Amino acid sequence: MAKRLGIMGGTFDPIHNGHLVAASEAASRYNLEKVIFVPTANSVFKHNKIVATQEHRYLMCVVATAANPSFIVSRADIDRGGTTYTIDTLQDIKKEYPEYELFFITGADAVRDIESWNEYEKLFSLAKFVAVTRPGYSIDKKLTEKYGVDQLQVPAMAISSTDCRERAKSNKPIWYLVPDGVVQYINKHQVY
Ligand code: NAP
Repeated sequence: MAKRLGIMGGTFDPIHNGHLVAASEAASRYNLEKVIFVPTANSVFKHNKIVATQEHRYLMCVVATAANPSFIVSRADIDRGGTTYTIDTLQDIKKEYPEYELFFITGADAVRDIESWNEYEKLFSLAKFVAVTRPGYSIDKKLTEKYGVDQLQVPAMAISSTDCRERAKSNKPIWYLVPDGVVQYINKHQVY
């Protein structure tokens, strides 16, 4: 059987424990050898909404995953630059890991609009798509039936980056919502 690689695509502004639980759940469900976190450069639908710089978001991912030998972080989207399109992410990762079967893991809210993504029909031949949902949310049946998108319910995704940012901005605690090192990174660099 081909070796399997998970790709966590996201803005990670900031990365939080929900993302880490989702990656761990996906690794267990699909028998993934490694999971690569790929922070976006400039996310398509949110040019004015990203708060932290690419380098802060990348470094927070590095800090958050440092203790897990199966989790790695890629600069592929950031170094390519410009607007991040998943077709490019998948092609770049495939070049680096040609022998791996790819699983693209991201939020269900993002995947809902997948038919508007660049070259979307090609995406499904490059990777299996896994849509992570918060509790009580189901993905559209069409995504499963037409494109084979799987749903992964992750209760810890009740944590959200938006909430973490707002808490950090108003000096409310974010301990235990994000890894300790990320709390310290955010405080040290006054990221939010
Ligand atoms: P987003 O709008 O920031 O996130 C949508 C929802 O999904 C949020 O609830 C978010 O929660 C959650 N989420 C994001 N990444 C996740 C992950 N890896 N695991 C679990 N939940 C996740 O989405 P985005 O960050 O812009 O885009 C997500 C990915 O889809 C990126 O890799 C992006 O490049 C790709 N994408 C590609 C295209 C395209 O190719 N045209 C278009 C849109 C998105 P949090 O806010 O708590 O993270």
